[in-house]
Amino acid sequence: APVIDITMPWFGMDIGGSLCKLVYFEPKDITKDEADSEVETLRNIRRYLTKNSAYGKTGHRDTHLQVHEMGQNWRGTAHFGDAATACFMASPLMEDVYIRGRKGTLHFIRFPSSEMVNFLALAKSKGMANLVTTVCATGGGAYKFEEDFRREVNMKLEKFDEFDSLLKGLQFADAQNPSECYYWASPTDDTCCTKINYDFSNPYPFLIVNIGSGVSVLAVYSPTNYKRISGTSLGGGTFLGLCCLLTGCNTFEEAIQLAAEGDNTNVDKLVRDIYGGDYERFGLPGDLVASRERRSKVSRQDLARATLVTITNNIGSIARMCATQEKIDRVVFMGNFLRVNPIAMKLLAYAMDYWSKGTMKALFLEHEGYFGAIGCLLQFHN
Ligand code: ADP
Repeated sequence: APVIDITMPWFGMDIGGSLCKLVYFEPKDITKDEADSEVETLRNIRRYLTKNSAYGKTGHRDTHLQVHEMGQNWRGTAHFGDAATACFMASPLMEDVYIRGRKGTLHFIRFPSSEMVNFLALAKSKGMANLVTTVCATGGGAYKFEEDFRREVNMKLEKFDEFDSLLKGLQFADAQNPSECYYWASPTDDTCCTKINYDFSNPYPFLIVNIGSGVSVLAVYSPTNYKRISGTSLGGGTFLGLCCLLTGCNTFEEAIQLAAEGDNTNVDKLVRDIYGGDYERFGLPGDLVASRERRSKVSRQDLARATLVTITNNIGSIARMCATQEKIDRVVFMGNFLRVNPIAMKLLAYAMDYWSKGTMKALFLEHEGYFGAIGCLLQFHN
Protein backbone atom coordinates (compact mmCIF):
# COMPACT_ATOMS: atom_id res chain seq x y z
CA ALA A 1 0.00 0.00 0.00
CA PRO A 2 1.31 3.45 -0.78
CA VAL A 3 2.42 5.55 2.10
CA ILE A 4 0.38 8.69 2.28
CA ASP A 5 2.65 11.54 3.07
CA ILE A 6 0.94 13.31 5.92
CA THR A 7 3.58 16.03 5.88
CA MET A 8 2.15 17.50 2.69
CA PRO A 9 1.59 20.21 1.64
CA TRP A 10 5.22 21.26 1.36
CA PHE A 11 5.88 24.97 1.57
CA GLY A 12 8.84 27.18 2.19
CA MET A 13 8.35 30.77 3.24
CA ASP A 14 10.51 33.84 3.44
CA ILE A 15 8.69 36.69 5.13
CA GLY A 16 10.73 39.78 4.42
CA GLY A 17 10.36 43.43 5.27
CA SER A 18 8.55 44.16 2.01
CA LEU A 19 7.49 40.90 0.42
CA CYS A 20 6.47 37.47 1.54
CA LYS A 21 7.87 34.78 -0.73
CA LEU A 22 6.12 31.42 -0.78
CA VAL A 23 7.38 28.35 -2.60
CA TYR A 24 5.02 25.42 -3.03
CA PHE A 25 6.00 21.91 -4.10
CA GLU A 26 3.34 20.27 -6.25
CA PRO A 27 3.92 16.51 -6.35
CA LYS A 28 3.63 15.17 -9.90
CA ASP A 29 4.15 11.50 -9.14
CA ILE A 30 0.91 10.92 -7.24
CA THR A 31 -0.30 7.35 -7.65
CA LYS A 32 -3.98 6.53 -8.03
CA ASP A 33 -4.18 5.05 -4.54
CA GLU A 34 -2.52 8.08 -3.13
CA ALA A 35 -4.84 10.40 -4.98
CA ASP A 36 -7.85 8.44 -3.73
CA SER A 37 -6.85 8.77 -0.14
CA GLU A 38 -5.55 12.31 -0.33
CA VAL A 39 -7.60 14.42 2.03
CA GLU A 40 -9.91 16.74 0.24
CA THR A 41 -8.52 19.88 1.79
CA LEU A 42 -5.06 19.03 0.61
CA ARG A 43 -6.34 18.33 -2.89
CA ASN A 44 -8.21 21.62 -2.93
CA ILE A 45 -5.20 23.57 -1.80
CA ARG A 46 -3.04 21.93 -4.43
CA ARG A 47 -5.57 22.70 -7.15
CA TYR A 48 -6.01 26.24 -5.96
CA LEU A 49 -2.33 27.08 -5.86
CA THR A 50 -1.41 25.40 -9.11
CA LYS A 51 -4.35 26.78 -11.04
CA ASN A 52 -3.58 30.33 -10.01
CA SER A 53 0.04 30.15 -10.86
CA ALA A 54 -0.43 28.46 -14.20
CA TYR A 55 0.66 31.34 -16.34
CA GLY A 56 4.35 31.47 -16.94
CA LYS A 57 4.16 27.77 -17.72
CA THR A 58 6.68 28.01 -20.51
CA GLY A 59 9.31 28.60 -17.87
CA HIS A 60 10.33 31.56 -19.97
CA ARG A 61 10.44 34.93 -18.52
CA ASP A 62 9.01 37.57 -20.77
CA THR A 63 10.01 40.67 -18.89
CA HIS A 64 7.65 43.01 -20.71
CA LEU A 65 4.73 40.72 -20.38
CA GLN A 66 5.51 40.27 -16.75
CA VAL A 67 5.72 43.94 -15.95
CA HIS A 68 2.40 44.39 -17.65
CA GLU A 69 0.60 41.46 -16.06
CA MET A 70 1.93 42.07 -12.62
CA GLY A 71 1.51 45.80 -12.80
CA GLN A 72 -2.12 45.29 -13.66
CA ASN A 73 -2.80 42.61 -11.13
CA TRP A 74 -0.87 44.34 -8.45
CA ARG A 75 -3.24 47.26 -8.34
CA GLY A 76 -6.06 44.78 -7.80
CA THR A 77 -4.59 43.46 -4.62
CA ALA A 78 -6.56 45.73 -2.36
CA HIS A 79 -9.50 43.37 -2.69
CA PHE A 80 -9.05 40.02 -1.11
CA GLY A 81 -12.31 38.35 -0.15
CA ASP A 82 -13.68 36.53 -3.16
CA ALA A 83 -11.15 38.05 -5.47
CA ALA A 84 -8.48 36.65 -3.23
CA THR A 85 -6.65 35.08 -6.12
CA ALA A 86 -5.44 38.53 -7.05
CA CYS A 87 -3.04 38.49 -4.15
CA PHE A 88 -0.96 35.76 -5.71
CA MET A 89 1.68 36.79 -8.13
CA ALA A 90 3.32 33.85 -9.76
CA SER A 91 6.79 33.60 -11.23
CA PRO A 92 8.07 30.99 -13.69
CA LEU A 93 7.71 27.43 -12.52
CA MET A 94 10.56 25.05 -11.94
CA GLU A 95 9.53 21.68 -13.31
CA ASP A 96 10.78 18.12 -12.77
CA VAL A 97 12.53 18.82 -9.50
CA TYR A 98 13.23 16.07 -6.96
CA ILE A 99 12.73 16.73 -3.29
CA ARG A 100 12.89 14.00 -0.65
CA GLY A 101 12.43 11.37 -3.34
CA ARG A 102 9.34 12.96 -4.80
CA LYS A 103 9.10 14.40 -8.28
CA GLY A 104 7.22 17.62 -8.75
CA THR A 105 6.95 21.24 -9.74
CA LEU A 106 7.90 24.27 -7.71
CA HIS A 107 5.49 27.21 -7.72
CA PHE A 108 6.65 30.68 -6.78
CA ILE A 109 4.21 33.04 -5.18
CA ARG A 110 4.62 36.40 -3.53
CA PHE A 111 2.55 39.07 -1.87
CA PRO A 112 3.29 42.13 0.25
CA SER A 113 4.16 41.22 3.84
CA SER A 114 1.73 43.94 4.90
CA GLU A 115 -1.09 41.75 3.54
CA MET A 116 -0.27 38.89 5.89
CA VAL A 117 -3.51 39.16 7.86
CA ASN A 118 -5.53 38.88 4.65
CA PHE A 119 -3.40 36.04 3.41
CA LEU A 120 -4.02 34.09 6.60
CA ALA A 121 -7.75 34.71 6.35
CA LEU A 122 -7.64 33.33 2.83
CA ALA A 123 -5.65 30.27 3.88
CA LYS A 124 -8.15 29.70 6.67
CA SER A 125 -11.08 29.92 4.28
CA LYS A 126 -9.42 27.21 2.16
CA GLY A 127 -9.39 24.87 5.13
CA MET A 128 -5.70 25.16 5.87
CA ALA A 129 -6.33 24.92 9.62
CA ASN A 130 -7.61 21.33 9.18
CA LEU A 131 -4.26 20.08 8.01
CA VAL A 132 -1.54 19.22 10.46
CA THR A 133 1.18 21.40 9.17
CA THR A 134 4.52 22.80 9.94
CA VAL A 135 5.87 25.36 7.56
CA CYS A 136 9.52 26.21 7.38
CA ALA A 137 9.97 29.92 7.40
CA THR A 138 12.71 32.49 7.42
CA GLY A 139 12.95 36.27 7.42
CA GLY A 140 11.90 38.61 10.19
CA GLY A 141 8.23 37.88 9.60
CA ALA A 142 8.74 34.29 10.71
CA TYR A 143 9.05 35.74 14.19
CA LYS A 144 6.66 38.63 13.82
CA PHE A 145 3.75 36.55 12.52
CA GLU A 146 4.42 33.30 14.34
CA GLU A 147 1.49 33.68 16.69
CA ASP A 148 -0.89 34.71 13.88
CA PHE A 149 -0.06 31.56 11.92
CA ARG A 150 -0.75 29.38 14.93
CA ARG A 151 -3.99 31.10 15.82
CA GLU A 152 -5.47 31.52 12.34
CA VAL A 153 -4.43 28.38 10.50
CA ASN A 154 -3.05 26.08 13.18
CA MET A 155 0.34 26.25 11.57
CA LYS A 156 3.63 25.92 13.30
CA LEU A 157 6.46 27.92 11.86
CA GLU A 158 9.77 26.14 11.96
CA LYS A 159 12.31 28.90 11.76
CA PHE A 160 15.53 28.76 9.81
CA ASP A 161 18.41 31.13 9.39
CA GLU A 162 17.97 33.55 6.53
CA PHE A 163 21.42 33.22 4.99
CA ASP A 164 21.67 29.43 5.45
CA SER A 165 18.37 29.17 3.59
CA LEU A 166 19.45 31.59 0.89
CA LEU A 167 22.56 29.56 0.14
CA LYS A 168 20.80 26.20 0.20
CA GLY A 169 18.12 27.56 -2.10
CA LEU A 170 20.68 28.98 -4.50
CA GLN A 171 22.62 25.72 -4.68
CA PHE A 172 19.44 23.74 -5.27
CA ALA A 173 18.03 26.07 -7.93
CA ASP A 174 21.30 26.16 -9.78
CA ALA A 175 21.63 22.38 -9.73
CA GLN A 176 18.02 21.82 -10.90
CA ASN A 177 17.74 24.56 -13.46
CA PRO A 178 20.51 24.75 -16.07
CA SER A 179 19.49 28.25 -17.12
CA GLU A 180 19.23 29.72 -13.60
CA CYS A 181 22.41 31.78 -13.70
CA TYR A 182 23.24 34.32 -16.39
CA TYR A 183 25.15 37.50 -17.14
CA TRP A 184 24.55 40.48 -19.39
CA ALA A 185 26.81 40.76 -22.42
CA SER A 186 27.41 44.27 -23.85
CA PRO A 187 25.31 45.87 -21.09
CA THR A 188 25.69 49.41 -22.43
CA ASP A 189 24.61 48.61 -25.96
CA ASP A 190 20.82 48.50 -26.23
CA THR A 191 20.85 46.82 -29.61
CA CYS A 192 23.10 43.88 -28.86
CA CYS A 193 22.83 43.59 -25.08
CA THR A 194 21.81 40.01 -24.26
CA LYS A 195 21.39 37.60 -21.40
CA ILE A 196 23.87 34.78 -21.61
CA ASN A 197 23.70 31.58 -19.65
CA TYR A 198 26.49 31.14 -17.11
CA ASP A 199 27.76 27.76 -15.93
CA PHE A 200 27.75 28.12 -12.15
CA SER A 201 28.60 24.50 -11.39
CA ASN A 202 32.02 25.37 -9.97
CA PRO A 203 31.29 28.67 -8.23
CA TYR A 204 33.55 29.02 -5.19
CA PRO A 205 34.52 31.50 -3.97
CA PHE A 206 31.85 34.02 -4.88
CA LEU A 207 30.13 37.06 -3.45
CA ILE A 208 26.38 37.32 -2.92
CA VAL A 209 24.85 40.77 -3.00
CA ASN A 210 21.26 40.35 -1.87
CA ILE A 211 19.24 43.46 -2.68
CA GLY A 212 15.95 43.29 -0.81
CA SER A 213 14.52 46.12 1.28
CA GLY A 214 18.10 46.49 2.49
CA VAL A 215 21.33 44.99 1.17
CA SER A 216 23.53 42.21 2.53
CA VAL A 217 26.87 41.13 1.13
CA LEU A 218 28.06 37.58 1.79
CA ALA A 219 31.38 36.01 0.86
CA VAL A 220 30.88 32.32 0.11
CA TYR A 221 33.88 30.00 0.15
CA SER A 222 32.21 26.58 0.10
CA PRO A 223 28.66 25.16 0.39
CA THR A 224 28.78 25.60 4.15
CA ASN A 225 31.45 28.20 4.73
CA TYR A 226 30.37 31.80 4.32
CA LYS A 227 30.33 35.09 6.17
CA ARG A 228 28.36 38.31 5.98
CA ILE A 229 30.97 40.91 5.22
CA SER A 230 28.99 44.04 4.56
CA GLY A 231 25.64 45.61 3.90
CA THR A 232 23.76 48.85 3.56
CA SER A 233 20.31 50.03 4.44
CA LEU A 234 20.20 51.90 1.12
CA GLY A 235 18.52 49.22 -0.95
CA GLY A 236 15.24 48.38 -2.64
CA GLY A 237 13.21 49.93 0.17
CA THR A 238 15.05 53.22 -0.14
CA PHE A 239 14.58 53.21 -3.90
CA LEU A 240 10.86 52.52 -3.70
CA GLY A 241 10.28 54.94 -0.83
CA LEU A 242 12.20 57.83 -2.38
CA CYS A 243 10.78 57.21 -5.81
CA CYS A 244 7.20 57.25 -4.55
CA LEU A 245 7.83 60.47 -2.64
CA LEU A 246 9.59 62.19 -5.52
CA THR A 247 7.28 61.14 -8.32
CA GLY A 248 3.96 60.33 -6.67
CA CYS A 249 4.01 56.78 -8.02
CA ASN A 250 2.52 53.96 -5.94
CA THR A 251 4.10 50.70 -6.94
CA PHE A 252 7.49 49.22 -7.70
CA GLU A 253 6.36 48.38 -11.24
CA GLU A 254 5.32 51.97 -11.81
CA ALA A 255 8.61 53.26 -10.42
CA ILE A 256 10.57 51.02 -12.79
CA GLN A 257 8.37 52.02 -15.72
CA LEU A 258 8.97 55.72 -14.99
CA ALA A 259 12.70 55.15 -14.65
CA ALA A 260 12.75 53.38 -18.01
CA GLU A 261 11.32 56.51 -19.63
CA GLY A 262 13.57 58.94 -17.79
CA ASP A 263 17.04 60.37 -18.22
CA ASN A 264 19.15 60.75 -15.10
CA THR A 265 21.52 63.18 -16.84
CA ASN A 266 18.81 65.84 -16.53
CA VAL A 267 19.23 65.53 -12.77
CA ASP A 268 22.79 64.39 -12.24
CA LYS A 269 25.89 66.48 -12.66
CA LEU A 270 28.32 64.40 -14.68
CA VAL A 271 32.09 64.44 -14.83
CA ARG A 272 31.84 65.96 -18.31
CA ASP A 273 29.71 68.82 -16.94
CA ILE A 274 32.64 69.62 -14.69
CA TYR A 275 35.62 68.70 -16.88
CA GLY A 276 34.09 69.15 -20.32
CA GLY A 277 35.05 65.55 -21.04
CA ASP A 278 36.73 62.57 -19.42
CA TYR A 279 39.07 63.06 -16.47
CA GLU A 280 41.61 60.77 -18.03
CA ARG A 281 44.33 60.87 -15.42
CA PHE A 282 42.08 59.08 -12.91
CA GLY A 283 40.08 57.14 -15.46
CA LEU A 284 36.83 58.98 -14.82
CA PRO A 285 34.63 58.86 -17.93
CA GLY A 286 32.68 61.97 -18.90
CA ASP A 287 29.30 60.35 -18.38
CA LEU A 288 30.09 59.38 -14.79
CA VAL A 289 27.78 60.90 -12.21
CA ALA A 290 29.88 63.31 -10.16
CA SER A 291 27.20 64.95 -8.06
CA ARG A 292 23.58 65.90 -8.08
CA GLU A 293 21.88 69.23 -8.39
CA ARG A 294 18.44 70.61 -8.98
CA ARG A 295 17.53 71.58 -12.49
CA SER A 296 14.38 73.31 -13.55
CA LYS A 297 13.18 71.02 -16.29
CA VAL A 298 13.24 67.74 -14.49
CA SER A 299 10.42 65.28 -15.17
CA ARG A 300 9.04 62.56 -12.87
CA GLN A 301 10.67 60.08 -15.21
CA ASP A 302 14.06 61.74 -14.80
CA LEU A 303 13.70 61.73 -11.02
CA ALA A 304 12.78 58.04 -11.02
CA ARG A 305 15.74 57.24 -13.23
CA ALA A 306 18.14 59.28 -11.12
CA THR A 307 16.92 57.56 -7.94
CA LEU A 308 17.35 54.14 -9.50
CA VAL A 309 20.81 54.97 -10.81
CA THR A 310 21.92 56.46 -7.48
CA ILE A 311 20.84 53.49 -5.38
CA THR A 312 22.18 50.98 -7.90
CA ASN A 313 25.57 52.65 -8.30
CA ASN A 314 26.03 52.83 -4.56
CA ILE A 315 25.36 49.11 -4.25
CA GLY A 316 27.67 48.39 -7.18
CA SER A 317 30.42 50.37 -5.54
CA ILE A 318 30.06 48.54 -2.22
CA ALA A 319 30.00 45.22 -4.08
CA ARG A 320 33.22 46.06 -5.86
CA MET A 321 35.01 47.11 -2.69
CA CYS A 322 33.94 43.88 -0.99
CA ALA A 323 35.04 41.77 -3.94
CA THR A 324 38.43 43.48 -4.04
CA GLN A 325 38.94 43.10 -0.33
CA GLU A 326 38.03 39.40 -0.41
CA LYS A 327 39.91 38.80 -3.67
CA ILE A 328 36.77 37.36 -5.25
CA ASP A 329 35.92 37.95 -8.90
CA ARG A 330 32.38 36.59 -9.29
CA VAL A 331 29.55 38.58 -7.79
CA VAL A 332 26.04 37.16 -7.74
CA PHE A 333 23.32 39.77 -7.43
CA MET A 334 19.91 38.68 -6.17
CA GLY A 335 16.83 39.93 -4.32
CA ASN A 336 13.55 41.39 -5.57
CA PHE A 337 14.99 44.83 -6.26
CA LEU A 338 16.24 43.22 -9.48
CA ARG A 339 12.77 41.97 -10.43
CA VAL A 340 11.66 43.36 -13.80
CA ASN A 341 14.60 45.70 -13.45
CA PRO A 342 17.00 45.30 -16.40
CA ILE A 343 18.19 48.91 -15.96
CA ALA A 344 19.70 48.11 -12.56
CA MET A 345 21.11 44.78 -13.72
CA LYS A 346 22.80 46.28 -16.76
CA LEU A 347 24.16 49.14 -14.72
CA LEU A 348 25.64 46.71 -12.18
CA ALA A 349 27.03 44.56 -14.98
CA TYR A 350 28.66 47.56 -16.63
CA ALA A 351 29.99 49.06 -13.40
CA MET A 352 31.53 45.80 -12.18
CA ASP A 353 33.23 45.27 -15.52
CA TYR A 354 34.40 48.84 -16.05
CA TRP A 355 35.80 49.60 -12.61
CA SER A 356 37.49 46.23 -12.25
CA LYS A 357 39.00 46.59 -15.75
CA GLY A 358 37.22 43.43 -16.81
CA THR A 359 38.40 41.24 -13.94
CA MET A 360 35.08 40.98 -12.07
CA LYS A 361 31.86 39.51 -13.34
CA ALA A 362 28.30 40.36 -12.31
CA LEU A 363 25.99 37.34 -12.33
CA PHE A 364 22.21 37.22 -12.04
CA LEU A 365 19.57 34.59 -11.33
CA GLU A 366 16.16 33.83 -12.83
CA HIS A 367 14.41 33.25 -9.50
CA GLU A 368 16.05 36.33 -8.03
CA GLY A 369 14.07 36.75 -4.81
CA TYR A 370 13.05 33.19 -3.96
CA PHE A 371 16.18 31.45 -2.71
CA GLY A 372 15.44 31.94 0.97
CA ALA A 373 12.01 30.38 0.53
CA ILE A 374 13.38 27.51 -1.58
CA GLY A 375 16.04 26.84 1.03
CA CYS A 376 13.35 26.66 3.71
CA LEU A 377 11.33 24.17 1.73
CA LEU A 378 14.40 21.94 1.44
CA GLN A 379 15.28 22.03 5.11
CA PHE A 380 11.93 20.69 6.14
CA HIS A 381 11.89 17.27 7.74
CA ASN A 382 9.26 15.76 9.93
P1 ADP B 1 12.65 41.66 1.66
O1 ADP B 1 12.94 40.24 2.05
O2 ADP B 1 13.37 42.66 2.48
O3 ADP B 1 11.18 41.93 1.54
P2 ADP B 1 12.98 41.34 -1.26
O4 ADP B 1 14.13 40.56 -1.81
O5 ADP B 1 11.66 40.69 -1.34
O6 ADP B 1 13.35 41.82 0.21
O7 ADP B 1 12.97 42.72 -2.03
C1 ADP B 1 12.15 43.80 -1.67
C2 ADP B 1 12.36 44.91 -2.68
O8 ADP B 1 11.99 44.44 -3.97
C3 ADP B 1 11.52 46.14 -2.45
O9 ADP B 1 12.18 47.04 -1.59
C4 ADP B 1 11.38 46.71 -3.86
O10 ADP B 1 12.49 47.54 -4.16
C5 ADP B 1 11.48 45.49 -4.76
N1 ADP B 1 10.21 44.99 -5.31
C6 ADP B 1 10.11 44.25 -6.44
N2 ADP B 1 8.84 43.95 -6.71
C7 ADP B 1 8.08 44.51 -5.74
C8 ADP B 1 6.69 44.58 -5.48
N3 ADP B 1 5.81 44.01 -6.31
N4 ADP B 1 6.26 45.21 -4.38
C9 ADP B 1 7.14 45.80 -3.53
N5 ADP B 1 8.46 45.80 -3.74
C10 ADP B 1 8.95 45.18 -4.83
